[in-house]
Amino acid sequence: MNVTHLECSLTGERYESGRPHNLSRAGKPLLVRYDLEAAKGTLTRESLAAREPNMWKWRELLPNDSEPVSLGEIETPLIRLQRTGGANLLVKDEGRLPTGSFKARGLAMAVTMAKQLRIERMAMPTNGNAGAALAAYGARAGMETTVICPAETPEINIIETAAYGARVYVADGQIDECGALVGKGAAEGLWFDCSTLKEPYRLEGKKVMGFELAEQLGWELPDAIFYPTGGGTGLIGMWKGFDELEAVGLIGSKRPRMYAVQAEGCAPMVRAFDRGDEFAERWDNAATVATGIRVPKAVGDFLILRAVRESNGAAIAVSDEAILKAVEDAARDDGFLFCPEGGAVLAAWRKAVGEGLVGRDERVVLFNCANGNKYPLPDRSKRLKLGEARPEAL
Ligand SMILES: *Cc1c(COP(=O)(O)O)cnc(C)c1O
Repeated sequence: MNVTHLECSLTGERYESGRPHNLSRAGKPLLVRYDLEAAKGTLTRESLAAREPNMWKWRELLPNDSEPVSLGEIETPLIRLQRTGGANLLVKDEGRLPTGSFKARGLAMAVTMAKQLRIERMAMPTNGNAGAALAAYGARAGMETTVICPAETPEINIIETAAYGARVYVADGQIDECGALVGKGAAEGLWFDCSTLKEPYRLEGKKVMGFELAEQLGWELPDAIFYPTGGGTGLIGMWKGFDELEAVGLIGSKRPRMYAVQAEGCAPMVRAFDRGDEFAERWDNAATVATGIRVPKAVGDFLILRAVRESNGAAIAVSDEAILKAVEDAARDDGFLFCPEGGAVLAAWRKAVGEGLVGRDERVVLFNCANGNKYPLPDRSKRLKLGEARPEAL
């Protein structure tokens, strides 16, 4: 285990590892720091190639020194969308992870660390996928979990979460308002607050997406990454992870341009990016079909904006209409079923190509973060009476 300490992402103040942490004293996310020289000794292209292909193989750059709480976190494939975008448009399909979303990466790590730190009860607000993953890994670890969802959370997530034995509540507010209640309970000692970026380890699980990308692309990062941005854990995590990979000598200094994708009905990062602000104001009356990115206020706002700007990327908003069209187009043209948040990312790529931000031939990775089968789709079938049916008319 190469963790040296934790560090406030705003002030740089140091915190000791080895005990539970939420936000820093400045109220900002904590980042895990490693002895990268020590990691370099054993984390090599050759050693990695010989390891089981799952997120735990990056152990020199992960915080746990205990057995992982695992449900089989596979390396997710990169799939080319030839008809949609040509040979260089790739999707990293995170929908194949346990619980059908990439929240599994973060929660596998967070629950592993919680168990190591002897935490027994955890809670979080969620728009769906994170709650399901917390409940599943919590069940695996024998922990009690409490999950509070906004009313528009997809029913399938609510039902799945309850199936794992979590206490699930559907509330009459947005995710940040649910989060305030979770925070209150944590302050009263009822549970540990596992909200996005309010504990330091979900980010460490999610950064592995960036590690996998580097290895899968022959240790050369793509020209651009399009990421559906709610709390931004994955985007911030990958950006941190790329520096770690460079420090241990696995990649060079090339970085992708990072595109943070949001829905027009909830686009606080896009507004802040356009205004040149360091922090993002809360987005009121948030509404979009892409519930995973319906996050009106993100505690890591400045980290998202920083990564986007440092990388020469952008924050892009797309309409629900463009999202749903992108989902249908990719399914029909390339046989790939995006979740709505993944549809947002494809719609944003199209918009970026249209505006000349991204070249059509550039190597681009889109993130599809949940399994498309979880979400309602329009029914385009026709009714058939078998007694009257003529096959040649079908
Ligand atoms: C949570 C979620 C997102 C947003 O992820 P963040 O890293 O929190 O920004 C995107 N898509 C899906 C399907 C999600 O569940």
